Parts: sequence; C-alpha cells; structure tokens
Amino acid sequence: MADDLDDIRVSDECPGCGHGFTVSYKTLWLGRTIECQGCGETIRLEDDTPIGAIQALIDEADAKRDEAR
Ligand SMILES: [Zn+2]
Repeated sequence: MADDLDDIRVSDECPGCGHGFTVSYKTLWLGRTIECQGCGETIRLEDDTPIGAIQALIDEADAKRDEAR
C-alpha cells in the first residue's frame, strides 16, 4: 500500500501562473513543496483530496500495472 503511493501521479496547476505540474501522491501526502517550472514560485502542496478519490487512483494504478503484465 505504501509503495503504491509512489506510482500515483497527481496533476495540479500553479496558483500563480497556472502552469501545470504533476507530482507523485507521496510527495503531496508528505506535504513537500515544489518549485513551479513556469514562474519559479515555491508551491506548497496541500492534501485536500478525498480518500475515495485516492483509492480510485490506487485502483487505477493497480489496473494499469496488471495490464502491463
Ligand atoms: Zn507558477
């Protein structure tokens, strides 16, 4: 389960310039910050994703892995 968090990618946009970025859910979950590739602002990642949506992402990641086999 913990390993699965590394496989999940979460897409969001910079609140300042709207530049899109993708981080692993683990990064989001740990509350890490990233630097926006668009404007250079430091973005504080906040985990406001409902647990149901996270589970759906985990299921999706599992399904993709199964397809790759
Ligand atoms: Zn930005």
